[in-house]
Amino acid sequence: MTAFWTEADFDEHERIEFVHDRASGLSAIIAIHSTHLGPAAGGTRFWHYPKAEAGMRDALRLSRGMSYKNAMAGLPMGGGKAVMLLDEKGTKTPEMLRAYGDAVEALGGAYVTAEDVGASVQDMVTISERTRHVCGLPAAEGDAGGDPSPYTAMGIFLGIKAAVSHRLGKDELDGVHVALQGCGNVGSGVARLLASEGARLTLADIDTDRAKRLASDLDGEAVSTSDILSVECDVLSPNALGAILDDDSIARLATPIVAGGANNQLKRAEHGAMLAERGILYAPDYVINAGGIIDVALEYLARQQGKPCDIDEVRERIEQIPVRLQQIWRESDTTGLSSDIVADKMAQKLIGRG
Ligand code: NAD
Repeated sequence: MTAFWTEADFDEHERIEFVHDRASGLSAIIAIHSTHLGPAAGGTRFWHYPKAEAGMRDALRLSRGMSYKNAMAGLPMGGGKAVMLLDEKGTKTPEMLRAYGDAVEALGGAYVTAEDVGASVQDMVTISERTRHVCGLPAAEGDAGGDPSPYTAMGIFLGIKAAVSHRLGKDELDGVHVALQGCGNVGSGVARLLASEGARLTLADIDTDRAKRLASDLDGEAVSTSDILSVECDVLSPNALGAILDDDSIARLATPIVAGGANNQLKRAEHGAMLAERGILYAPDYVINAGGIIDVALEYLARQQGKPCDIDEVRERIEQIPVRLQQIWRESDTTGLSSDIVADKMAQKLIGRG
């Protein structure tokens, strides 16, 4: 492996830990991008990478993203991310999770982990046998914490409303047509909230039955995954994969707004400017999808103080997501910079790297 500081994705990361535990077979990389605002918080991705370098790149890139996301969400947390390098069968044992918990604990709270792709709440419970520095644990009835998806969906829903108001001058969603890609935990939550306020929905998922079921529940329409990006609509909401906004898809978009929860929607940095040139309002993904980390970070901070997490505070902070988006769009209108660049600059300033 090349030295990490020559990696294209290296961005003055404060610390990178390579973890190996022979007894359990655990191999993991923990990247701490910044602790300027507090402990570096971000999930652990459980994934089979054919080459460890790809895992390293994910850890570097995603941990920087978490610094930006946490800063823009106003959380007293820095940014970090970890990847657990699984074998081709995706083997993940309780022993590996416990050894991983030991590695997180050894960092003394500099890194706080949570769920990411491939992880479950139960995995976090097993990790918590060995470390206090984990969040996304099951929550008691009425408390925040646990599955972050409903909170992520809530923030995206509020962000879409703000975008509709900013770009279309409408303060209500009644009759607003949203094309939504990905009907999983986040996407289905966003769709239900939109439908509850009268939005018209067109849905797509590679699991076509899932899209059809949700469409039938919400009086919407299901279309194929190849058609969803070119549906003529008021809002396109990507809630499936990253890197879906590229030269080809941007040319095909028939929407004035892109606002959804998928991480890393822009395939390359220049695609933000390309959206702006087409007059499409873009909600930077790490700003609009911060509801889940707000939920689990507040759960963590409350637990450190030995008290239950205040759900009202979670809601109040999620309600700041549209405020932050409006600030970004106003600045973008004034400066002519695309909204993704404006957001990055704001985030860099907040983490002391402006
Ligand atoms: P999920 O696995 O529950 O749902 C993803 C859905 O997308 C699935 O239904 C899947 O079948 C579908 N899908 C996959 N490829 C597709 C394609 N090409 N076209 C259409 N549909 C496709 O995941 P999730 O938790 O809902 O997360 C969705 C996105 O939001 C991810 O990018 C994730 O990184 C991001 N995100 C999630 C959270 C959270 O709280 N869960 C927080 C921040 C960001």
